[in-house]
Amino acid sequence: MNIHEYQAKALFEKYGVPVPKGAAATTPEEFVTALAQLPDGPTMVKSQIHAGGRGKGTFTDGFKGGVKFCKTKHEAKELAGKMLGNTLVTLQTGPAGRKVQTVYFTVASSIKKEYYLAILLDRASSKPVIVASTEGGVEIEKVAHETPEKITKVLVDPAYGLADYQVRELIFKLGFTGAEAKNAGKLIRNLWNCFWDTDAAMVEVNPLITTPEGEVLALDAKVSFDDNALYRHPEIVAYRDLDEE
Ligand code: ADP
Ligand code: MG
Repeated sequence: MNIHEYQAKALFEKYGVPVPKGAAATTPEEFVTALAQLPDGPTMVKSQIHAGGRGKGTFTDGFKGGVKFCKTKHEAKELAGKMLGNTLVTLQTGPAGRKVQTVYFTVASSIKKEYYLAILLDRASSKPVIVASTEGGVEIEKVAHETPEKITKVLVDPAYGLADYQVRELIFKLGFTGAEAKNAGKLIRNLWNCFWDTDAAMVEVNPLITTPEGEVLALDAKVSFDDNALYRHPEIVAYRDLDEE
């Protein structure tokens, strides 16, 4: 089962994984109440569908971009109106695309650098693996193909859990120092707790970013679950979106 970005980010917040403030809406009336929860200024409008590649996607009516930067909340409201009810085609949706039934407004962060971070089950060893890269915001398959040396993998022993030296290794490989290193260490540990406690099949943050202020934030969030683990997690079953399945 997949969940939407805005739901994955709510889960992240519960686990102390920092995300920019945001609010979701399913009707034009809700645009107003959602935007009222955000500060004035640069705002992103993000189509919520169970597929990636939204930023580079195109709607079937020709409108370009399922993720848009807006200078003002007013502009964000206008653009949300173009996305809601429209069908978004991305590299991952197939040619039919997906109808956007929810839009997510979120504070636009200033990005110093984009990274990639994911936790999933490694098929070969049946152990959780943390995958990290300094090349964020692009498809990890592309990085794996073109510059595999820029991907770090850390296998976690499920009996022991994530060790501190493994967190330090990830921080080192990503090149974080100072405040960034401290914040990234906390984020990695909290993301691990989120993955482990919820029995997730995968948590993926692409991009993970640093800001000029030294913050480390999850700008995108994809979380999926094995259906056979869901009976233990009614709080996650509540996120199910039958329109997407
Ligand atoms: P997708 O992976 O489906 O294209 P993302 O959430 O990764 O969607 O958004 C695409 C790009 O838009 C990101 O790589 C990032 O550069 C930018 N972006 C997304 N959210 C924000 C945000 N809150 N602030 C600034 N830029 C953002
Ligand atoms: Mg992304």
